[in-house]
Amino acid sequence: MGRALVDVRVLQREYLLAISRAMTAELELPEVLRLILKSAVELVAGRAGIVALQDDQEEQLRVAAVYGIPTTLVEEFYPLLTELPPLEGAEQEAELTRRLRQAAASVDLGLTRMIRLPMVMGEQVVGVIYVFLAGQGTGYYIREDAIALLRAFAEQAAIAVRNARLYQQIYQEKQRMDAIVEQSADGVMILDPDLRIKEFNKALSLMTGWRPEEAVGRYHKEIFAWQKLRTDMDLETARASGWPFPGAAHLYVEGDLQRLYDEHDPMAVGGMVSLGITYAPLMDENGRMTDIIAGVRDLTRYREEEELQKTFISVVSHELKTPVSIIKGYAGTLRRQDANWSPEIVEESLTVIEEEADNLTNLIDSLLEVSRLQAGNFNLEISDDVMLPRIVKRVVQRFQTQTDDHTFAIHFPEDFPPIWGDERRLTQVMNNLISNAIKYSPEGGEVVIRGEVHPRHVTISVRDSGLGISEQDQHKIFQKFSRLDNALSRKTEGTGLGLYLTKAIIEAHNGRIWFHNNPDGPGTTFTFSLPRDE
Ligand code: ADP
Repeated sequence: MGRALVDVRVLQREYLLAISRAMTAELELPEVLRLILKSAVELVAGRAGIVALQDDQEEQLRVAAVYGIPTTLVEEFYPLLTELPPLEGAEQEAELTRRLRQAAASVDLGLTRMIRLPMVMGEQVVGVIYVFLAGQGTGYYIREDAIALLRAFAEQAAIAVRNARLYQQIYQEKQRMDAIVEQSADGVMILDPDLRIKEFNKALSLMTGWRPEEAVGRYHKEIFAWQKLRTDMDLETARASGWPFPGAAHLYVEGDLQRLYDEHDPMAVGGMVSLGITYAPLMDENGRMTDIIAGVRDLTRYREEEELQKTFISVVSHELKTPVSIIKGYAGTLRRQDANWSPEIVEESLTVIEEEADNLTNLIDSLLEVSRLQAGNFNLEISDDVMLPRIVKRVVQRFQTQTDDHTFAIHFPEDFPPIWGDERRLTQVMNNLISNAIKYSPEGGEVVIRGEVHPRHVTISVRDSGLGISEQDQHKIFQKFSRLDNALSRKTEGTGLGLYLTKAIIEAHNGRIWFHNNPDGPGTTFTFSLPRDE
């Protein structure tokens, strides 16, 4: 009771000072709340207290700070929190008193009274401070100005909660932004107005070979030292001439860069990368640039594709020209009025014309197939009774008439099953593999075609005794337009499309194709598998 006589104003100053210090010291919310709670309890010479905050999702109060109650007993006070007490109402009051008695009985702290201080922020009650008092002394009272101070504490607590929530929101937002930048599949970097790198994400690191921790802090120029610039300006020139220009804020720069070779990183590869960068300035309200956000795209593949297109045009035009000029030559010769051609010569010339016309048709068919593949409408014309042994026999018969240097052996077991597939395209596969076997064994030799039956699939292999394929070229041969650079491929005709299409056809049938150089002699064996019972 003596406490009530203490000069509350002194306490008031001390407590408020401590609380505002705590709030500006950027303490964690629970610590600030505990300090406010402790001050409130001490001010009224109470015994214990609880700060409970409104949980928006569950619409109920949750304990956020406790003072003077052993942790194991806090649970006993939960009934007091189960609903947010309205500020008035005698019945509510009675109910709360009942709950308090119940809690007091179980914790044995001699609690007899309770002060509830709603923490209000605007219209919203964000929580409640409970101060529990013990003793029943007559004449015990709480001075008016102490109550006013308690209200001030509740207000401070509400502000602390709001600050903490805002901070939490900003923090989460920042985390989210960082994650987006970091996880972005595109390269992202942030520069300061002096063009120094502030952020550099993982994707950009993969493109350039610079590790983020190495790149951050460097000038843009150090990392983006273009070997070849494909746009009018780079960032530095643009900046020097006054970028960001009003009305045209974004700057696009494209060029080729030497990728950093890091001897400590065995995964790092050197070589050129082609990048396209969009720089977007961030302005403050005074129109001053604060940051530059740059999105970086790796264009290397498009460039390679472009190169490939160029090869394609040169290969195809060569491949188209050759038969056309042969046909034209023969036709022109046959037409000459002054020559009296023997029937044999006429016959031979017409055969050549026919063959070359067939070559042209095949080439055009292949090109159409490739364009269908690229357009994504490569549809199989399926039947479920494709007889591979018959196809192989037919193809071999046709090739046998064209070569005297090669012999053919066909091995299929009796029970080789009919297969689900596209007969025309599987014929094309056999055509490609057998014609390659012949083309790439210029000395002649045996070509062996073997079929095998397995429980879930069948395999067909084509073995030649030709040149073989060198180790370093093995990964290339199924690529579009890839022709290995050897003396033979320069002499033989071909577009480098055969195996690319073959693989696409086999894979469209859910099969696989692979090859190996023969272990027991010269030459290569190509094998593909096709599933049974589709
Ligand atoms: P093309 O025969 O029209 O050049 P392909 O796609 O059929 O195109 O083959 C690609 C390259 O793979 C060929 O240029 C050749 O160098 C190599 N190749 C294909 N088959 C064989 C083989 N049986 N033996 C050796 N090299 C081969």
